Amino acid sequence: MDCLFCKIRDGQIPAKVIYRDEVCLGFEDINPQAPTHVLFIPLQHIATVNDITPADRQTVGHLYTAAAQLARERGHSEQGYRLVMNCNRDAGQTVFHIHLHLLAGRPLMWPPG
Ligand code: ADP
Repeated sequence: MDCLFCKIRDGQIPAKVIYRDEVCLGFEDINPQAPTHVLFIPLQHIATVNDITPADRQTVGHLYTAAAQLARERGHSEQGYRLVMNCNRDAGQTVFHIHLHLLAGRPLMWPPG
């Protein structure tokens, strides 16, 4: 399967990996939009939010706990941060392996563009 994030998971494409466990991987976004911009992906390939099944609930929840833990470690808990997962074209999804963006370290605008 030709998936960029599967290749990062497998070490075929380099990335600044900062977190890994048996369910997910966290790595620095190559084009950071905030002082902290980390992507959390499930090791299991899931293309979009539309493809998440009830069997994936724990896996997807795992992305949130891993992201919140890193936010805590980097001192973002009190100021706050954003976790976002874009689905398909209108939301701007460009890599079709679900990823939770952790954005932190500056005030974030809302609503997004
Ligand atoms: P968008 O590209 O519009 O932000 P996504 O939600 O699909 O949409 O996010 C894909 C993210 O993956 C982008 O933030 C992009 O900078 C990041 N990215 C793309 N290629 C790499 C890579 N090789 N290593 C790390 N991050 C990457």
